Amino acid sequence: MTNSGPAAPGMLLIISGPSGVGKTTITHHVERELCGVFSVSVTTRPQTHKDTQGQDYDFVDRTEFERRQRAGELLEWAEVFGHCYGTPRLPVEQAIFEGHLVILEIDVEGAVLVKQQILDAFALFVLPPSEQVLLHRLRHRQREGEEIIQRRFAKAKLEIERAHTCGVYDAFVVNDQLEQASAEAVELVCQERAGRGQGARTS
Ligand code: 5GP
Repeated sequence: MTNSGPAAPGMLLIISGPSGVGKTTITHHVERELCGVFSVSVTTRPQTHKDTQGQDYDFVDRTEFERRQRAGELLEWAEVFGHCYGTPRLPVEQAIFEGHLVILEIDVEGAVLVKQQILDAFALFVLPPSEQVLLHRLRHRQREGEEIIQRRFAKAKLEIERAHTCGVYDAFVVNDQLEQASAEAVELVCQERAGRGQGARTS
């Protein structure tokens, strides 16, 4: 018997946004609602007590990260706040081939690189309602000292500017109310899939 491939092609969804904007919650909401496959990135950043190895990230040291990079195992990679983050190529390509909705939560530079390779990837950028609200949320997380918060805030402003000018994002979602923004993200992905003639497929 020949392998004729999947009944319907999968879709790659990229979700980006600055630190503190709520994109991880939105990403996991979309994943649950649409039975998506979340791509676990590889990173050299230290694991925190909140992270689960293999679930939030694949935590590796720099030598191993560079080996995977050299071996072409990463679809894209970027350095964020001094740590390397990358998307594993094979699991992503395999899951798309199998017809799944594959979700990458990556930064703007990573999104630019992925879109150069996977032209029909659908990219969403999550915006805060205002810069002041973002600063307030970063402070409210009480995760870091003021110096780091200010660094994240400065980077966030640059990222938002870059997101608007890079031409990669298909839609922007403003996270004022988390529930509403999550529902909007799901709706946008559903519309896109329907437009491509793909029903929601379960994983
Ligand atoms: P965090 O360490 O706070 O989880 O993530 C820091 C930043 O790295 C976030 O903006 C996140 O979207 C980004 N990021 C996570 N994984 C990847 C990846 O595989 N590639 C790229 N380019 N960025 C990533």
